[in-house]
Amino acid sequence: MVFDLDLIKKVYAAMPEKVVEARKLVGRPLTLAEKILYTHLFVPAEKAYGRGVDYVDFTPDRVAMQDATAQMALLQFMTCGRAKVAVPSTVHCDHLIQAKSGALEDLKTANEVNKEVYEFLASISNKYGIGFWKPGAGIIHQVVLENYAFPGGMMIGTDSHTPNAGGLGMIAIGVGGADAVDVMAGLPWELKMPKLIGVKLTGKMSGWTAAKDVILKVAGILTVKGGTGAIVEYFGEGADSLSATGKATICNMGAEIGATCSLFAYDEKMAGYLSATGREEVAYLATQIKEHLRPDEEVYADPVKYYDQLIEINLDELEPYVNGPFTPDLAWPISKFAEAVKSNEWPAKLEVALIGSCTNSSYEDISRSASLAKQAIDKKLKAKAEFTITPGSEVVRYTIEKDGFLDTFYQIGGVVLANACGPCIGQWARHIDDPKRKNSIITSFNRNFAKRNDGLASTHAFVASPEIVTAFAIAGDLTFNPLKDKLKNEDGKEVMLDEPTGMELPPKGFSVEDAGYQAPAADGSGVQVKVAPDSQRLQLLEPFPAWEGTDIKGLKLLIKAKGKCTTDHISMAGPWLKFRGHLDNISNNMLIGAVNFFNEETDKVKNQLTGEYGAVPAVQRAYKAKGIGSVVVGDENYGEGSSREHAAMEPRHLGVRAIVVRSFARIHETNLKKQGMLALTFANKEDYDKVQEDDSIDIVGLGSFEPGKPLTMVLNHKDGSKDQITLNHTYNKQQIEWFKAGGALNVIRSQFAK
Ligand code: SF4
Repeated sequence: MVFDLDLIKKVYAAMPEKVVEARKLVGRPLTLAEKILYTHLFVPAEKAYGRGVDYVDFTPDRVAMQDATAQMALLQFMTCGRAKVAVPSTVHCDHLIQAKSGALEDLKTANEVNKEVYEFLASISNKYGIGFWKPGAGIIHQVVLENYAFPGGMMIGTDSHTPNAGGLGMIAIGVGGADAVDVMAGLPWELKMPKLIGVKLTGKMSGWTAAKDVILKVAGILTVKGGTGAIVEYFGEGADSLSATGKATICNMGAEIGATCSLFAYDEKMAGYLSATGREEVAYLATQIKEHLRPDEEVYADPVKYYDQLIEINLDELEPYVNGPFTPDLAWPISKFAEAVKSNEWPAKLEVALIGSCTNSSYEDISRSASLAKQAIDKKLKAKAEFTITPGSEVVRYTIEKDGFLDTFYQIGGVVLANACGPCIGQWARHIDDPKRKNSIITSFNRNFAKRNDGLASTHAFVASPEIVTAFAIAGDLTFNPLKDKLKNEDGKEVMLDEPTGMELPPKGFSVEDAGYQAPAADGSGVQVKVAPDSQRLQLLEPFPAWEGTDIKGLKLLIKAKGKCTTDHISMAGPWLKFRGHLDNISNNMLIGAVNFFNEETDKVKNQLTGEYGAVPAVQRAYKAKGIGSVVVGDENYGEGSSREHAAMEPRHLGVRAIVVRSFARIHETNLKKQGMLALTFANKEDYDKVQEDDSIDIVGLGSFEPGKPLTMVLNHKDGSKDQITLNHTYNKQQIEWFKAGGALNVIRSQFAK
């Protein structure tokens, strides 16, 4: 047993009373999301929180981290002074495995190439009481669903598809590493009280339609931004009719509409999945308090009153969908897809069809896809497109191999990839004759942005259910509609594929020889964390210096960024992924994507010491070498995009002292504060225009830095003139302490040292 039963018992023991209290406080019946949120407050509520308004401190039950994001999260955690994590936490090695030849070979290569990273993650997990899932064990979200997710729980994960666990009735939210550090250190975790979107599912699916089609349709309705700041709660008899893994698929892809997370209520399907995955006791305990793990009856009766937005979908009428290309919200019902392919001149020839991933590799998905592959064999058809299968975990892989499904896929030409992210995250050495040639692929994954899967701008990627992907693999043609079109077989006869059939759970149960789990040492105090001093991929962190106690004067303007400046512009991904555990090396990508206002170019700024232009990181390093700090000036919504803390740590590491912008994306602003940086906004947005390329800058008023009290920036221009500018900030008392101490971790460390 890898899950923590005592923790679940504790949550369930407290839940009934807390729900009653919350109902009283809010003064009306509660949705499921509200029940879970109010039972996970860091301190008891004194008032009802405004949805979409109030920031609230929560205490999640668990943390999960994948290998790319865990590196920096754990490097930070190890400096905070705790001997052990405060809540159950796990690390999953899934993102760093490249798909090239097939599961065995690719896993072997990954173990060699990433050896030091895996050894580091294994040793640091062992030391601090963190469960470690080895490379090949599976993809974070599938492993969490199989082992840790529980109805009514709350978790955070350092990956945007963490909401997958909503399929088992858990509030599960994707965050950055700095947030994971807070929770692992036992500190509160802050979130704006989410709004609520209700999705009422009526009817029952049948035939070719799958759970994936629900979210593909919802994505078409809400678009990629429609769920921002909201929890999407599914309910109705249609919701209860979906398998637990189907529910997880829908919650997983809630990330594609920007939702905070998505959620289903506890039901018999969840109980069945919990029991099938060795958690009968959790199912028993959940059933005892099931009224608290579902919305109140009044919510079902009159949902418009309780959700900020309501969508209704009739599963009886739901068609299979194909979404794409280039965005997951371009939704096509299958009856209209062939025409869309033709009229948009997307390449109709399908080159690769990929099923599986964390989104769609359940026993149900695989058995239904295998039923189509079996028909292909019986009807003398072969896959015309390349066809790959990515199991979500070793438990799934072992079980579907034992039950003969993998063999069926092999017979139509399928290739089984490692239990890892692979092509879903661009870790795919795709074989293609001409990378510039327009081409089409289809996956049962979740994202299909340009270049996401294979790094090629020429690839048109579509997403669909695994059943539809498999049918397309057999047809090799995107204008094929498996619901009505015929295919020509080896004998030249016209044949049709029948509707897929499958099973939600394995009739002979799940089984596995080695699930790939490594439990941490009971006492990790003697465990050495492995980081080679000359490593290019890992670097132990030094605490950032505390504030010097005075105003900060004589800073140089590093860059005045123009227009959009996302966390990708500040700290690019792609080839830089391999340096996520090495702060100094990854800092060589700092702001290289930002556009310099003065020359409209990227990665070219003036070095005020020499008058020459150079790359942003190089110029900043030149300032740092002379002990000179700098200021970054930015435009609106600076730091939007991912929550990666590297975008805040890199400037801090290289000696930038303040980021002054027209407005911030909230998560990045918080990340900057956590790293001890000054994150400030122009009180008068037009003052952005007063910043000149050769400015020397003073930040004044720090001696009386207080919540709500503006600071001043003095721009000392080259011609001797000055501009005095008022800067606003949103620091609270605690955050000012972070600034003074040089970062939140320094504060935590001093608390544990006491
Ligand atoms: Fe993310 Fe894809 Fe890996 Fe899932 S399979 S965790 S979506 S990269």
